[in-house]
Amino acid sequence: MVISSPSGGGKTVVRSGLLKLDKRFAFSVTCTTREKRPGEIDGRDYYFVTVAQFKKLRRDGKLLEWAVVHGNYYGTPVKSVAAVLEQGRIPVMTIDVKGAHSVKKIFPAAVTVFLLPPDLKTLVQRLRGRGEKPENVAVRLETARSEIKVASRFDYLVINDKLPEAIREVAAIADLETRKIGRNLDKVKAFGRQLGKRSRGA
Ligand code: ADP
Ligand code: 5GP
Repeated sequence: MVISSPSGGGKTVVRSGLLKLDKRFAFSVTCTTREKRPGEIDGRDYYFVTVAQFKKLRRDGKLLEWAVVHGNYYGTPVKSVAAVLEQGRIPVMTIDVKGAHSVKKIFPAAVTVFLLPPDLKTLVQRLRGRGEKPENVAVRLETARSEIKVASRFDYLVINDKLPEAIREVAAIADLETRKIGRNLDKVKAFGRQLGKRSRGA
């Protein structure tokens, strides 16, 4: 489950609500070269790495995708996603728009969700409310213009107006997706084998 949005769109809060609501989901921690913000914990929020460490991970093919966002490197370690899949859980990735498209290309079974606040005024209020400086708000809104242009490539749109509702909508998307026949062919085939045995008189 790949969740993207313009900065301030609500990826972080929706993700944390989703993980609390439903134990099927687990966060796949990504890595970044940006400075740790107050309250962030290495290994929980991000793996904080140096530029040299990041480049080595990239060179060694350890990243599923990577991007430069606002001047810093970000990337999804293959290991992070694999670990969650091995537990039989749904990896939740909150990454930028370019990263979301890369993941979908490499891994078509991924479900991509684009989050949008109900209107621009709300987005600006939320960015300011998060303590972003005016110049940072301006940069993020400029980036948002190009992100919006490619939104049609996402599978789903969720409007993040009331937070609990947005979280429930993302969970509902997962509910529907897990019921897709293509994701359940093993069960259909098992039923078919039982029918085969029955018709052979077993
Ligand atoms: P992102 O991770 O996409 O940059 P955040 O999750 O940090 O965005 O959200 C930006 C700010 O807006 C945060 O301060 C967050 O608490 C607030 N916020 C997000 N969604 C809502 C919502 N539905 N209602 C009220 N505040 C919200
Ligand atoms: P922030 O620095 O505010 O936590 O994140 C900045 C942007 O980078 C956000 O849009 C966030 O989702 C995105 N991001 C975080 N991790 C990754 C990643 O591994 N890959 C990509 N492509 N984007 C990421």
